[in-house]
Amino acid sequence: MREIAETGGIGVDDYMRRSNAAYYAQGDPLGRAGDFVTAPEISQMFGELIGAWIADLWQRAGAPAPVQLVEYGPGRGTLMTDALRMARRVPGFAAAAQIVFVETSPALANLQRAAVPEATIVAAHDEVPAGVPSIAIANEFFDALAIEQQVLVDETWKERRIGANGDLLRFDPAGDTIRECSPAREEIAAAIAARIVADGGAALIVDYGYANGETGDTLQAIRRHEYVDPLAHPGTADLTAHVDFVALEAAARRAGARISGPVSQAGFLTSLGIGARAEMLMQRADGTQREAVATAMRRLTAPDEMGALFKAMALTAPSWPLPAGFPA
Ligand code: SAH
Repeated sequence: MREIAETGGIGVDDYMRRSNAAYYAQGDPLGRAGDFVTAPEISQMFGELIGAWIADLWQRAGAPAPVQLVEYGPGRGTLMTDALRMARRVPGFAAAAQIVFVETSPALANLQRAAVPEATIVAAHDEVPAGVPSIAIANEFFDALAIEQQVLVDETWKERRIGANGDLLRFDPAGDTIRECSPAREEIAAAIAARIVADGGAALIVDYGYANGETGDTLQAIRRHEYVDPLAHPGTADLTAHVDFVALEAAARRAGARISGPVSQAGFLTSLGIGARAEMLMQRADGTQREAVATAMRRLTAPDEMGALFKAMALTAPSWPLPAGFPA
């Protein structure tokens, strides 16, 4: 804030990067008592189905050992815990799998260590060990990475920056026609793709965003489950923006990966059998628990909840089989 006033402004990308670094470093933003809730925190079904997805792909790839399970931005480690419980039912998987978390927040890394003690935690993609096939997962990771914005001023696109006016931050230049891009996201998508092309493997990206190249201002801030002004709480609200799946897909394709999807989260989970999984959990449950399973199912798949806005896309090495959950 002080620096913004002194330097006469920073780019939206710089603002987002620094605000989120401070935000995620301060503690656990997830869950009912926190700022937002993610799919693995809504229901164990999400991670379990992804665990089944992982184990199926691994088996059809010829059960390579060792195999690395890499998760980007694992939050509390809930997705991986649920996924491993499922995948380890497949003979040989537990012995073959090495878990790697890519996480920058020390506070969340502590929670992840508690949830999955055998995981190795690194701070960046280029610290993930090379030379081993990997199956990578990223749920609501890309939306937290920095975007750049441009604003149309007198028929030219100018970088949209953030300046200070006394204690208030404001966008500068002002204007209503805005477009976004994210070199940071494309770079990591390309790096993940290059790695699986070289070593074998696959990556599953689940996030909210658009699959048809829409544009406009999608920068948003969430604090205690409410949308707030993105400039009002630097470092204490979660800043995200819609993921442009077309741009990620292009970056991964250039690196040599094959692309499956994107499909809606509802389409993906339905095709992996969330209906049957929910039925099974309901049969074992009492009345209130049954209600909770039905509610979770709706939150994950209903078009007016996470079902349509959230998308799943997979990258695979050309030498690997195609993953489940996507139309052939
Ligand atoms: N995947 C989890 C958490 C999503 S929140 C879930 O679905 O519940 C975003 C996660 O990405 C957090 O763990 C956050 O600390 C992490 N993160 C944000 N920016 C990152 C970066 N540049 N490198 C690594 N992790 C990052």
